[in-house]
Amino acid sequence: MTVRIRADLDQLPAYVAGRTVAGSLKLASNEVSAGPLPSVTEAIARAAGEVHRYPDMGATRLTDALATRLDVDPARIAVGCGSVGLCEQLVQITCTTEDSVVYPWRSFEAYPIMSHIVGATQIQVPLTAEHALDLDAMAAAITPDTRLVFVCSPNNPTGPAVRRAELERFLDSVRSDVLVVLDEAYREFVTDPDVPDGVELAARYDNVLVLRTFSKAYGLAGLRIGYAIGPAHVAEALRKVCVPFSVNAVGQAAALASLDAQDELRARCAAIASERVRVRDELLALGFEVPETQANFVWLPLGDRAAEFSEHCLTERVVVRAFAGSGVRITIGDTGENDTLLAAAKTFHPAG
Ligand SMILES: *Cc1c(COP(=O)(O)O)cnc(C)c1O
Repeated sequence: MTVRIRADLDQLPAYVAGRTVAGSLKLASNEVSAGPLPSVTEAIARAAGEVHRYPDMGATRLTDALATRLDVDPARIAVGCGSVGLCEQLVQITCTTEDSVVYPWRSFEAYPIMSHIVGATQIQVPLTAEHALDLDAMAAAITPDTRLVFVCSPNNPTGPAVRRAELERFLDSVRSDVLVVLDEAYREFVTDPDVPDGVELAARYDNVLVLRTFSKAYGLAGLRIGYAIGPAHVAEALRKVCVPFSVNAVGQAAALASLDAQDELRARCAAIASERVRVRDELLALGFEVPETQANFVWLPLGDRAAEFSEHCLTERVVVRAFAGSGVRITIGDTGENDTLLAAAKTFHPAG
């Protein structure tokens, strides 16, 4: 006999991480290429000398700093082991096998995985023809047993963000006992003034929680720090189900130092946003379809040719993230990196 594990895990999709290929340029995981903010590296080194001690389980200093910066009660904040960790905790605290989760699709691949682990029913709502979230369809998809809705804005991997008017209309229509999670992993890259600030919406709606992360714009993906701002009883439940000490001490110190480096952050995000426009315009000129994007990546909805494009880029030593049969997501890098990607794209013929 062999050890028995849950049979349903056979159907659990594996999280596919962006590939790292030695000697190649990686534009596959929406990381910033510049590294941690310059002033943060020192804080990381200092914290490294203390790692024989357990981390502060409540991430108290970081929570207080976030509360001050964002003008929210610290009781409404939960820090997690990446916002991916918080996604899992959110399903855990809202759903059993009797309940359902509504989320857009295609979107962040953690949503189906985390929902499956808990055994919740998954209601996937297709994107619009413009590869954006279809909030009206999402509102219509909510059933009496829905407990949780993920709204990914900007949407990973396609790029569009939801605008204030449509999001408020959506929030006004959702039952108040359903938790709406605004996943704003890419918020710092948003330049469109019509895209609302999730923290402000979380202050106004009793059933809204916003997710943010230090992994993307702040350049701390390897240190695993994300946070949630939402109703106090939800934040408390999140803290209860968090794996003890999973929010590590070096990450807490780095996140804290990062909050003091807002000028460096702003400069970095502005550079990426302007490169985003250039890369998208050049790809459009080459004949690719490229949805509007507010994130640090572009999406090429190449359908059946997604894998072919990705292989083509690999021969040019550029790693992109292909979603077979669907499209390719390409992270915006620095100017030189983007030139390398554009040179590779130039020798691929989007029309076949
Ligand atoms: C990258 C990403 C996250 C989370 O990243 P963490 O590293 O776990 O903080 C969350 N949501 C979306 C949509 C992402 O793309």
